Amino acid sequence: MKDRFDRNITYLRISVTDRCNLRCTYCMPEEGVEPISHSDLMTFEEITDFVKCAVTLGINKVRLTGGEPTVRKGIVNLVKMITGIEGIKDLSMTTNGVLLKQFAQPLKDAGLKRLNISLDSADRESYARITRHDSLPDVLEGIDGAMKCGYDKIKLNCVVHKDRNEPDALSVAAFGREKGLEVRFIRTMNLDTGEFWVVDGGIGGDCSICNRIRLSAKGDVLPCLFSDIGFSVRKYGACEAIRMAVGSKPLKGTLSRSHEFYNVGG
Ligand code: SAM
Repeated sequence: MKDRFDRNITYLRISVTDRCNLRCTYCMPEEGVEPISHSDLMTFEEITDFVKCAVTLGINKVRLTGGEPTVRKGIVNLVKMITGIEGIKDLSMTTNGVLLKQFAQPLKDAGLKRLNISLDSADRESYARITRHDSLPDVLEGIDGAMKCGYDKIKLNCVVHKDRNEPDALSVAAFGREKGLEVRFIRTMNLDTGEFWVVDGGIGGDCSICNRIRLSAKGDVLPCLFSDIGFSVRKYGACEAIRMAVGSKPLKGTLSRSHEFYNVGG
């Protein structure tokens, strides 16, 4: 599926929930946000039907994200349902890792291939300050557990103010070296003002090679993180909503006043 600028769209990111068990200072207010009502949330059947349509249009790579995907009830079943769709070559998840000690093995058994685990500091106090939860020990246990499950790849995502030379980023880099895990450094972005950066160690943020569309937790297909455009699956149907989103993918992101990282998946 080519967009107007000849970019081949093969990658779908699905936000399965807007809820999260952390409150990262750059992502969510301390008191949380008004959660999407259950009736507005895409059901697993709707998500699976959507992915089936997406595959017929050229999507072959899917990432589950959120909110925090592991807090969505039945997430292992959703992974099983998506794994069963012919044409999906890669299924991965972005998670904060807090619940991985419980979910790493069942998710792997269900067919999940790769994990990106968010880790903004390897120092317990800093981690608690950034995420507003003292959950570093759980995350580290989750990472160790996941490393024993045989995933194809586990990467760490570290959000930084400016660059990888900050103390928290250095602590994560050292942790990554110790464990043999790749680290990607993501400079804090601002959807409201259109401040975004190419990910250090990854390709996110480079609009010229963007191959992505996104499905929000309440079922809007979004052509770009930094755009307010979205097409409702419930209104247009999955395939038409995807065609509309791909057809309106901008050359370059600008800004978004209606999306937040926690509801469109970061
Ligand atoms: N809860 C999961 C997690 O923490 O990985 C998945 C969702 S989270 C929104 C996905 C990614 O977006 C995380 O790596 C997070 O750090 C990143 N993120 C959230 N807000 C951001 C911001 N303002 N700038 C840059 N990255 C951000």
